Amino acid sequence: MVKIPAKMRTYCRKCKKHTVQTVRQEKGGRRGSGLVKGTRRANRHKKGSGNKGRYSKKAASQLKMASKTSQKVDLRLTCDECKATWVRTYPRARSVEIVKVE
Ligand SMILES: [Zn+2]
Repeated sequence: MVKIPAKMRTYCRKCKKHTVQTVRQEKGGRRGSGLVKGTRRANRHKKGSGNKGRYSKKAASQLKMASKTSQKVDLRLTCDECKATWVRTYPRARSVEIVKVE
C-alpha cells in the first residue's frame, strides 16, 4: 500500500512556478480511443480462419507481465491555479491510496 497526498506542491509548466496541485488516479486499462493503427490491423487479421501469423501468438507483453504482481500507477495532477492537467507516472505499486493531508 502506497499513500499519496491528495494535494502536492510541485512545478507547473504552464505557470512556470511551484503551485498546489490536486492528485487524481486514472483508472481503467484503455485510455484514449483504443483504435490506433496497430489495433485496427490486428482486428483485421483476427477475422476468418487459418494461421493468423504473428497475431496467432499471445502478445509479448502478456507473457512477460504474468510474473508481475504490481502495476504502474497513473496519476493526474491538476494545477489549482490554471487548471492544467499533467500526467505523473508513479513507480510500481500493488495498491495506491490517495490520502487527504490537512
Ligand atoms: Zn498552473
